Amino acid sequence: AAGRSDHARVKETLRIFNTYYLQCVQEKDVKRTSCRPDLKALTKASFCTFLSYIALDRIDVGYQFYSRAEMTAVGFHSHWLNGIDYIGQSKGKKGHEKCTLPIAVAIVMSGQYEDDLDNADDIIYTGEGGHDLLGSKLQQEDQVLVRGNLALKNSMDQSVPIRVIRGRKNAGSYSGKIYSYDGLYKVVDSWADKGCRGHVVYKYRLKRIEGQPKLSMNQVQFIRGCPLKVVSDLPGLVCRDISNGLEDNCIPVTNLVDDPPICPPGFTYIKSVEVAESVKLPPGAPGCSCKGSCTNHKTCACAKLNGQDFPYVLRDGGRLAEPKDVVFECGPNCGCNPGCLNRISQRKIKYRLEVYRTPDKGWAVRSWDYIPSGAPVCEYIGVVRRSDELDNIAGDESNEYIFEIDCLHTINEIEGRERRLGNVQVSSAISIPKIDKTMLDGTPEFCIDAGCRGNVARFINHSCEPNLFVQCILSAHHDLRLARIVLIAADNIPPMQELTYDYGYALDSVIGSDGKIKVLPCFCGTGDCRKRLY
Ligand code: SAM
Repeated sequence: AAGRSDHARVKETLRIFNTYYLQCVQEKDVKRTSCRPDLKALTKASFCTFLSYIALDRIDVGYQFYSRAEMTAVGFHSHWLNGIDYIGQSKGKKGHEKCTLPIAVAIVMSGQYEDDLDNADDIIYTGEGGHDLLGSKLQQEDQVLVRGNLALKNSMDQSVPIRVIRGRKNAGSYSGKIYSYDGLYKVVDSWADKGCRGHVVYKYRLKRIEGQPKLSMNQVQFIRGCPLKVVSDLPGLVCRDISNGLEDNCIPVTNLVDDPPICPPGFTYIKSVEVAESVKLPPGAPGCSCKGSCTNHKTCACAKLNGQDFPYVLRDGGRLAEPKDVVFECGPNCGCNPGCLNRISQRKIKYRLEVYRTPDKGWAVRSWDYIPSGAPVCEYIGVVRRSDELDNIAGDESNEYIFEIDCLHTINEIEGRERRLGNVQVSSAISIPKIDKTMLDGTPEFCIDAGCRGNVARFINHSCEPNLFVQCILSAHHDLRLARIVLIAADNIPPMQELTYDYGYALDSVIGSDGKIKVLPCFCGTGDCRKRLY
């Protein structure tokens, strides 16, 4: 990861952690063990080595984590249970300890201590110890001025600022909570007190350091709790539902950029892929002979194609455990029912999406809901055409909405197709042999044209540091040249963040009709932007 922006490194570390987390959930479901997948995931890599190169001060105020373990993975708060994170400690045998002064660097406020008082910018924080942390959370013994408690006092004496992280209940998050970084605070006072259960507790008054961005949690909560009727009150609303009622959740379009505000140019919204006359569909896949939902990976023929496993983790409505070259889902010839776990990407769009206008990239898409990593967001829908047919029907503008079905090219890194997930490893499905590169020449044979007919995916922009990835999926047939293209969350995506994927062009790989290299500047604005889409 050397040379990449701090932000990208944090993201990458969280991605690795979440991949391990999902693998551990999958393992737990199969082996029916009682281990905690988040804690097990922490042991799968030396996350502390990532810690050394992550500049913690580059995590923005308002950044959200979706579990304590995620914070531990990036070293933002290095303990998954204790409230106070500190550096320096006592070492050696009793009576011969060598002490480095413990200094507190971060605290988590989860609202579970009766003696805490949280007034946003002014906090009374109760020290640690004496609580029944894994049970009732209540104070059972006196606290002592050691470890974290001593560290907080030392931070006050030495004027060391403390990162304050607040945890709030959130049903959408896989841990049941969201942890937001609320900025740096100073410990301005500390004292021993009698807690409300009569035991000694240490108390610390922390004040938020001035000049930092305002606390944003309320805004996010408002948006998440937004009832549907609020759609008509959305600032800049130019269309109530671009899907014309076809999707379960309406997809409003807003424009706060143009004056007067314009709408997206006309196209027909469709929910499933259509096939042009010139495309001959391959024979159907044989399918599995399971009944009901596929549960036994040893007997399900589709699970076998995925390397003896189901690719999805059932938790949170189904999440892909890891990106694969290709995922084999159950299809029309399978014996299982439509609710089967191995058909997750065929389900309806689950998240409340909004199309909105940006200053420099045209239209874009964001979600009002939290999207967990591995969750399918939407399929790229349009008309499947032969690529050579496009020259006759499309001008340069409608080419903007063409997705070349380049699964074979991408897997084999042919013709300017680059793997779309940066440094994150893509595991190969066992059944896709690497191809003799001479067998594939030129552009992919087929594409999905969403110029005139398509779904919300046609508005999703490119980013050099994306939060979605492209997953090739086969269900009705097994011809990779005509694979379904599904966009899947690469990260835990907070509400209102633009959804993006890497369009995957190599630089100088797009040639115009005049034979010259075409250049399209990139405005994704990320720290690692390559400055050009192609
Ligand atoms: N923004 C498009 C719109 O207004 O309809 C939706 C995405 S469309 C599939 C692809 C086009 O969006 C590209 O050809 C380019 O014009 C624009 N675009 C997407 N990502 C971009 C980026 N990172 N920087 C600049 N333009 C981008």
